[in-house]
Amino acid sequence: MDGKRVIGVDLGGTKILAGIVDRDGRLERHRENPTPVSSQEDLLAGLDRAVEELLDDEIAALGFGLPSPIDQRSGRAQQAVNIPLDATIDFRARMSERFGLPVGIENDANSAAYAEFHFGAAREANSMVMLTLGTGCGGGAVIDGKLFRGWAEFGHMVIVYDGIPCQGTCTGRGHLEPYVTGVAATKLAQAEFGPAVDAHRLVRLADEGEPRAISILDGIGRHLGAGIGSLVNIFNPELVVIGGGFAAAGDFILDPAREIVAREGLAGAGERVRIVRAELGTSAGLIGAALVAFDTLA
Ligand SMILES: [Zn+2]
Repeated sequence: MDGKRVIGVDLGGTKILAGIVDRDGRLERHRENPTPVSSQEDLLAGLDRAVEELLDDEIAALGFGLPSPIDQRSGRAQQAVNIPLDATIDFRARMSERFGLPVGIENDANSAAYAEFHFGAAREANSMVMLTLGTGCGGGAVIDGKLFRGWAEFGHMVIVYDGIPCQGTCTGRGHLEPYVTGVAATKLAQAEFGPAVDAHRLVRLADEGEPRAISILDGIGRHLGAGIGSLVNIFNPELVVIGGGFAAAGDFILDPAREIVAREGLAGAGERVRIVRAELGTSAGLIGAALVAFDTLA
Protein backbone atom coordinates (compact mmCIF):
# COMPACT_ATOMS: atom_id res chain seq x y z
CA MET A 1 0.00 0.00 0.00
CA ASP A 2 1.70 3.18 -1.19
CA GLY A 3 -0.96 5.78 -0.40
CA LYS A 4 -1.49 6.56 -4.07
CA ARG A 5 -5.10 5.45 -4.43
CA VAL A 6 -8.17 5.95 -2.28
CA ILE A 7 -11.91 5.40 -2.60
CA GLY A 8 -14.16 8.47 -2.62
CA VAL A 9 -17.88 8.06 -1.98
CA ASP A 10 -20.49 10.72 -2.73
CA LEU A 11 -23.70 9.92 -0.88
CA GLY A 12 -26.69 11.58 -2.51
CA GLY A 13 -30.40 11.44 -1.80
CA THR A 14 -31.03 9.16 -4.77
CA LYS A 15 -27.66 7.59 -5.63
CA ILE A 16 -24.32 6.58 -4.20
CA LEU A 17 -21.37 7.40 -6.45
CA ALA A 18 -18.14 5.65 -5.49
CA GLY A 19 -14.80 5.54 -7.28
CA ILE A 20 -11.08 4.90 -7.02
CA VAL A 21 -9.17 8.17 -7.33
CA ASP A 22 -5.40 8.79 -7.54
CA ARG A 23 -3.44 11.79 -6.24
CA ASP A 24 -3.82 13.61 -9.56
CA GLY A 25 -7.60 13.46 -9.24
CA ARG A 26 -7.94 10.80 -11.92
CA LEU A 27 -11.01 8.63 -11.52
CA GLU A 28 -9.96 5.05 -12.29
CA ARG A 29 -13.10 3.01 -11.77
CA HIS A 30 -16.44 4.05 -10.49
CA ARG A 31 -19.82 2.67 -9.57
CA GLU A 32 -23.27 4.14 -9.24
CA ASN A 33 -25.89 2.51 -7.00
CA PRO A 34 -29.30 3.64 -5.75
CA THR A 35 -29.31 5.02 -2.19
CA PRO A 36 -31.22 2.73 0.21
CA VAL A 37 -33.44 5.06 2.22
CA SER A 38 -35.66 2.64 4.20
CA SER A 39 -33.47 2.75 7.34
CA GLN A 40 -30.04 3.82 8.57
CA GLU A 41 -29.01 0.16 8.71
CA ASP A 42 -29.89 -0.35 5.03
CA LEU A 43 -28.16 2.88 4.11
CA LEU A 44 -24.93 1.79 5.83
CA ALA A 45 -25.16 -1.62 4.15
CA GLY A 46 -25.51 0.16 0.79
CA LEU A 47 -22.40 2.24 1.50
CA ASP A 48 -20.52 -0.91 2.56
CA ARG A 49 -21.41 -2.58 -0.75
CA ALA A 50 -20.34 0.48 -2.73
CA VAL A 51 -16.89 0.37 -1.07
CA GLU A 52 -16.55 -3.44 -1.27
CA GLU A 53 -17.15 -3.41 -5.04
CA LEU A 54 -14.01 -1.29 -5.47
CA LEU A 55 -11.81 -2.32 -2.57
CA ASP A 56 -8.41 -3.92 -3.14
CA ASP A 57 -5.14 -4.17 -1.21
CA GLU A 58 -3.81 -0.95 -2.75
CA ILE A 59 -6.53 1.29 -1.32
CA ALA A 60 -5.00 3.51 1.39
CA ALA A 61 -8.02 5.36 2.79
CA LEU A 62 -11.72 6.10 2.34
CA GLY A 63 -13.47 9.47 2.05
CA PHE A 64 -17.21 10.12 2.30
CA GLY A 65 -19.11 13.20 1.15
CA LEU A 66 -22.35 13.33 3.14
CA PRO A 67 -25.42 15.51 2.54
CA SER A 68 -25.53 17.04 6.02
CA PRO A 69 -23.56 19.32 8.31
CA ILE A 70 -20.63 17.40 9.79
CA ASP A 71 -19.24 17.51 13.33
CA GLN A 72 -15.56 16.78 12.65
CA ARG A 73 -14.73 16.36 16.34
CA SER A 74 -17.25 13.58 16.92
CA GLY A 75 -17.18 12.13 13.37
CA ARG A 76 -20.94 12.42 13.04
CA ALA A 77 -23.38 13.60 10.41
CA GLN A 78 -25.66 16.01 12.19
CA GLN A 79 -28.91 16.22 10.32
CA ALA A 80 -29.40 14.88 6.84
CA VAL A 81 -32.62 16.15 5.31
CA ASN A 82 -33.33 13.54 2.64
CA ILE A 83 -31.70 10.33 3.86
CA PRO A 84 -31.89 8.25 7.08
CA LEU A 85 -28.53 9.25 8.54
CA ASP A 86 -28.26 10.98 11.89
CA ALA A 87 -25.95 11.75 14.78
CA THR A 88 -26.76 8.50 16.63
CA ILE A 89 -23.74 6.83 15.03
CA ASP A 90 -20.09 7.85 14.88
CA PHE A 91 -20.02 7.44 11.11
CA ARG A 92 -16.28 7.92 10.72
CA ALA A 93 -15.35 5.39 13.44
CA ARG A 94 -17.93 2.91 12.15
CA MET A 95 -16.48 2.98 8.63
CA SER A 96 -12.90 2.92 9.86
CA GLU A 97 -13.58 -0.18 11.99
CA ARG A 98 -15.56 -1.88 9.25
CA PHE A 99 -12.75 -1.55 6.66
CA GLY A 100 -9.64 -1.18 8.81
CA LEU A 101 -8.63 2.00 6.94
CA PRO A 102 -8.28 5.71 7.74
CA VAL A 103 -11.58 7.45 6.96
CA GLY A 104 -12.31 11.12 6.26
CA ILE A 105 -15.81 12.57 6.16
CA GLU A 106 -16.98 15.92 4.87
CA ASN A 107 -20.12 17.67 3.79
CA ASP A 108 -20.89 16.94 0.12
CA ALA A 109 -20.80 20.57 -1.02
CA ASN A 110 -17.53 21.18 0.85
CA SER A 111 -16.15 18.12 -0.95
CA ALA A 112 -17.26 19.45 -4.33
CA ALA A 113 -15.59 22.80 -3.56
CA TYR A 114 -12.37 21.00 -2.62
CA ALA A 115 -12.39 19.12 -5.93
CA GLU A 116 -13.06 22.25 -8.02
CA PHE A 117 -10.22 23.98 -6.14
CA HIS A 118 -7.67 21.28 -6.91
CA PHE A 119 -8.73 20.00 -10.30
CA GLY A 120 -11.59 22.11 -11.67
CA ALA A 121 -12.60 25.71 -12.26
CA ALA A 122 -10.50 27.09 -9.37
CA ARG A 123 -7.27 25.12 -9.96
CA GLU A 124 -5.29 28.34 -10.59
CA ALA A 125 -6.77 30.15 -7.58
CA ASN A 126 -5.56 30.41 -4.01
CA SER A 127 -8.97 31.00 -2.48
CA MET A 128 -12.46 30.29 -3.70
CA VAL A 129 -16.05 30.01 -2.62
CA MET A 130 -18.47 27.58 -4.24
CA LEU A 131 -22.23 27.46 -4.33
CA THR A 132 -24.07 24.43 -5.68
CA LEU A 133 -27.54 25.13 -7.04
CA GLY A 134 -29.62 21.99 -7.26
CA THR A 135 -32.60 20.92 -5.21
CA GLY A 136 -30.99 22.83 -2.36
CA CYS A 137 -28.16 25.34 -2.24
CA GLY A 138 -24.90 23.99 -0.83
CA GLY A 139 -21.73 25.90 -0.09
CA GLY A 140 -18.02 25.37 0.41
CA ALA A 141 -14.89 27.48 0.69
CA VAL A 142 -11.15 27.00 0.26
CA ILE A 143 -9.15 29.83 1.81
CA ASP A 144 -5.39 30.13 1.28
CA GLY A 145 -5.36 26.60 -0.06
CA LYS A 146 -7.13 25.07 2.94
CA LEU A 147 -10.63 23.64 2.86
CA PHE A 148 -12.83 25.45 5.38
CA ARG A 149 -14.09 22.52 7.44
CA GLY A 150 -16.89 24.28 9.26
CA TRP A 151 -20.50 24.12 8.16
CA ALA A 152 -20.28 26.52 5.21
CA GLU A 153 -24.06 26.28 4.81
CA PHE A 154 -24.10 29.38 2.63
CA GLY A 155 -27.54 28.51 1.27
CA HIS A 156 -28.93 29.31 4.70
CA MET A 157 -27.59 32.86 4.90
CA VAL A 158 -30.39 35.33 5.48
CA ILE A 159 -30.55 37.63 2.47
CA VAL A 160 -34.08 39.02 3.06
CA TYR A 161 -35.29 39.71 6.61
CA ASP A 162 -38.59 37.87 7.17
CA GLY A 163 -38.54 36.77 3.53
CA ILE A 164 -40.04 33.61 1.99
CA PRO A 165 -39.83 30.34 3.99
CA CYS A 166 -36.77 28.19 3.40
CA GLN A 167 -36.95 24.72 1.82
CA GLY A 168 -37.09 21.23 3.32
CA THR A 169 -36.84 20.98 7.09
CA CYS A 170 -35.23 24.40 7.51
CA THR A 171 -37.48 26.67 9.60
CA GLY A 172 -35.78 29.91 8.56
CA ARG A 173 -37.10 32.69 6.34
CA GLY A 174 -35.44 34.77 3.66
CA HIS A 175 -32.48 32.40 3.30
CA LEU A 176 -30.58 32.36 0.02
CA GLU A 177 -31.70 28.81 -0.81
CA PRO A 178 -35.42 29.33 -1.55
CA TYR A 179 -34.54 32.14 -3.99
CA VAL A 180 -31.86 30.49 -6.10
CA THR A 181 -32.34 26.72 -6.47
CA GLY A 182 -33.76 24.74 -9.35
CA VAL A 183 -36.79 24.12 -7.11
CA ALA A 184 -37.23 27.87 -6.69
CA ALA A 185 -36.92 28.38 -10.46
CA THR A 186 -39.52 25.68 -11.13
CA LYS A 187 -41.97 27.35 -8.72
CA LEU A 188 -41.56 30.74 -10.38
CA ALA A 189 -41.78 29.19 -13.85
CA GLN A 190 -45.00 27.34 -13.01
CA ALA A 191 -46.60 30.46 -11.59
CA GLU A 192 -45.86 32.25 -14.87
CA PHE A 193 -46.23 29.52 -17.51
CA GLY A 194 -48.27 26.72 -15.90
CA PRO A 195 -47.45 23.27 -14.46
CA ALA A 196 -45.61 21.88 -17.52
CA VAL A 197 -42.70 24.31 -17.25
CA ASP A 198 -39.87 23.38 -14.86
CA ALA A 199 -36.45 24.96 -14.31
CA HIS A 200 -34.92 23.25 -17.35
CA ARG A 201 -37.74 24.34 -19.63
CA LEU A 202 -37.48 27.86 -18.18
CA VAL A 203 -33.81 28.03 -19.22
CA ARG A 204 -34.71 26.75 -22.70
CA LEU A 205 -37.41 29.43 -23.01
CA ALA A 206 -34.82 32.06 -22.04
CA ASP A 207 -32.50 30.62 -24.70
CA GLU A 208 -35.30 31.10 -27.22
CA GLY A 209 -35.57 34.75 -26.16
CA GLU A 210 -38.83 34.55 -24.18
CA PRO A 211 -38.73 37.84 -22.21
CA ARG A 212 -40.69 36.62 -19.14
CA ALA A 213 -38.34 33.64 -18.76
CA ILE A 214 -35.31 35.92 -19.02
CA SER A 215 -36.86 38.23 -16.42
CA ILE A 216 -37.47 35.36 -13.95
CA LEU A 217 -33.87 34.17 -14.29
CA ASP A 218 -32.65 37.76 -13.93
CA GLY A 219 -34.49 38.01 -10.60
CA ILE A 220 -32.97 34.73 -9.41
CA GLY A 221 -29.52 35.99 -10.46
CA ARG A 222 -29.94 39.21 -8.46
CA HIS A 223 -30.77 37.27 -5.29
CA LEU A 224 -27.79 35.02 -6.00
CA GLY A 225 -25.68 38.17 -6.35
CA ALA A 226 -26.84 39.39 -2.93
CA GLY A 227 -25.65 36.13 -1.38
CA ILE A 228 -22.36 36.13 -3.29
CA GLY A 229 -21.79 39.79 -2.39
CA SER A 230 -21.93 38.90 1.30
CA LEU A 231 -19.56 35.97 0.76
CA VAL A 232 -17.12 38.25 -1.08
CA ASN A 233 -17.16 40.65 1.88
CA ILE A 234 -16.44 37.80 4.31
CA PHE A 235 -13.85 35.77 2.37
CA ASN A 236 -12.62 38.08 -0.42
CA PRO A 237 -12.08 35.05 -2.69
CA GLU A 238 -10.44 35.27 -6.11
CA LEU A 239 -13.12 33.11 -7.59
CA VAL A 240 -16.74 32.14 -6.96
CA VAL A 241 -17.63 28.82 -8.59
CA ILE A 242 -21.27 27.97 -9.29
CA GLY A 243 -22.10 24.27 -9.64
CA GLY A 244 -25.10 21.95 -9.40
CA GLY A 245 -27.77 21.21 -11.99
CA PHE A 246 -29.27 24.69 -12.04
CA ALA A 247 -25.87 26.24 -12.91
CA ALA A 248 -27.03 25.30 -16.43
CA ALA A 249 -28.90 28.63 -16.37
CA GLY A 250 -25.42 30.10 -16.96
CA ASP A 251 -25.16 33.81 -17.75
CA PHE A 252 -28.94 34.26 -17.50
CA ILE A 253 -28.36 34.18 -13.73
CA LEU A 254 -24.61 34.90 -13.54
CA ASP A 255 -24.66 38.25 -15.39
CA PRO A 256 -27.23 39.84 -13.04
CA ALA A 257 -25.37 38.25 -10.11
CA ARG A 258 -22.11 39.86 -11.31
CA GLU A 259 -23.83 43.24 -11.49
CA ILE A 260 -25.07 42.99 -7.88
CA VAL A 261 -21.77 41.62 -6.59
CA ALA A 262 -19.91 44.55 -8.18
CA ARG A 263 -22.19 46.88 -6.23
CA GLU A 264 -22.07 45.05 -2.89
CA GLY A 265 -18.37 44.11 -2.68
CA LEU A 266 -16.16 46.30 -0.50
CA ALA A 267 -13.06 48.07 -1.80
CA GLY A 268 -13.47 46.89 -5.39
CA ALA A 269 -13.59 43.21 -4.38
CA GLY A 270 -16.96 42.84 -6.08
CA GLU A 271 -15.40 43.92 -9.37
CA ARG A 272 -12.23 41.85 -9.01
CA VAL A 273 -13.87 38.55 -8.11
CA ARG A 274 -14.62 36.24 -11.01
CA ILE A 275 -17.88 34.28 -10.98
CA VAL A 276 -17.63 31.14 -13.12
CA ARG A 277 -19.32 27.81 -13.64
CA ALA A 278 -17.98 24.59 -12.12
CA GLU A 279 -16.06 22.24 -14.42
CA LEU A 280 -16.13 18.79 -12.84
CA GLY A 281 -19.86 18.13 -13.11
CA THR A 282 -21.36 15.24 -11.17
CA SER A 283 -17.99 13.72 -10.25
CA ALA A 284 -16.92 16.75 -8.13
CA GLY A 285 -18.37 15.34 -4.90
CA LEU A 286 -16.72 11.96 -5.38
CA ILE A 287 -13.30 13.43 -6.25
CA GLY A 288 -13.54 15.86 -3.31
CA ALA A 289 -14.38 12.97 -0.96
CA ALA A 290 -11.22 11.25 -2.24
CA LEU A 291 -9.18 14.40 -1.44
CA VAL A 292 -10.58 14.26 2.09
CA ALA A 293 -9.41 10.64 2.23
CA PHE A 294 -5.89 11.67 1.11
CA ASP A 295 -5.87 14.32 3.85
CA THR A 296 -6.15 11.55 6.45
CA LEU A 297 -2.80 10.21 5.19
CA ALA A 298 -0.93 13.52 5.39
ZN1 LIG B 1 -32.64 27.69 5.28
